[in-house]
Amino acid sequence: MNQPALRDSFGRQIRSVRISITDRCNFRCIYCMPKDPHWIPRDEILTFEEIIRFARIALSTGVEKIRLTGGEPTARRGLPELVKGIAGRPGLRDLSLTTNGMLLGELARPLWDAGLRRINISLDTLQEEKFVHIARRGAFTQVMGGIEKAQQAGFSPIKINMVVMRGYNDDEVADMARFSRDRAVHVRYIEFMPLDGDGIWSREKVFTAQEILDRITEEVGPLEMVTGGTLSDPARAFRFKDGRGDIGIIASVSEPFCFACDRIRITADGKLRTCLFSQTETDVRALLRGGAGDEEIARVIANAVWNKEAGHGINDPGFLQPKRPMYSIGG
Ligand code: SAM
Ligand code: SF4
Repeated sequence: MNQPALRDSFGRQIRSVRISITDRCNFRCIYCMPKDPHWIPRDEILTFEEIIRFARIALSTGVEKIRLTGGEPTARRGLPELVKGIAGRPGLRDLSLTTNGMLLGELARPLWDAGLRRINISLDTLQEEKFVHIARRGAFTQVMGGIEKAQQAGFSPIKINMVVMRGYNDDEVADMARFSRDRAVHVRYIEFMPLDGDGIWSREKVFTAQEILDRITEEVGPLEMVTGGTLSDPARAFRFKDGRGDIGIIASVSEPFCFACDRIRITADGKLRTCLFSQTETDVRALLRGGAGDEEIARVIANAVWNKEAGHGINDPGFLQPKRPMYSIGG
């Protein structure tokens, strides 16, 4: 099968797919989940076979990058088997995982052995008490141990994702930059987006990219921009002038980068979303389970991509938060 590349009506080419493999999670982060989440019924969640088939079809349409996410992807039993089923597929240039790190102590090595080479670990604070407040679970020690185990397994560099919320953890922006310098990890600061489950997002809580940069420069040291990244990488990259410590900033709210967006997402229940903030979805699961051929599925994906939104519209007066919070979409 040789499908034409996935292109939308604004000329953007889709090269990257985020696959949510579960909406379940062992944390309840306040910026992502409601206190009492409603889980997708198990029989509606794509099986590994269905995920691998979808990945194969996506790769045949010019997708080159796949990120496994969730919910918490490590909470799904057999994750290394799924990685094995996707890694090394023709056309795949980059396979990565986003995880909260809690289960990496036991999983880092099996994931490496299965062919995974890139990991992003979420860590919003270096203070145990604050961790409990944000993640609503007491797992700080396990996550720190997970980061260490991932480094020992060979993952390098590990990217640490920090969602910065004013009044919650913005006081740790500089500490996290020092953590990058001390522990040889890349830290990526993410602006808080309106995707939480309890409606706590407000514009005032967004600690902006500029504020992050100012804080780091004042408290840690001068930064220089790293050039040569791809336009579609959502993170603007910086390095400390003395060469120790790498940081990235994802300014989704204050400086949207939708014009260069090259990604689509599929939820754990097989709904294709062309934007985090989409108000509509395409039911790929119905096709996977309904006997559709690969070419037909590829055509449906291409059609959805053609209609990809111009941008997320967070800053538009008529902006609507999507019905699914982040954990149910796949971050
Ligand atoms: N459970 C895994 C984790 O936490 O890394 C993977 C799924 S999580 C939804 C993916 C990423 O989305 C995490 O880095 C998380 O911090 C980020 N995220 C979740 N809700 C967010 C929000 N409202 N704004 C910005 N980033 C968010
Ligand atoms: Fe779970 Fe990740 Fe959402 Fe936190 S951000 S609740 S770890 S899915």
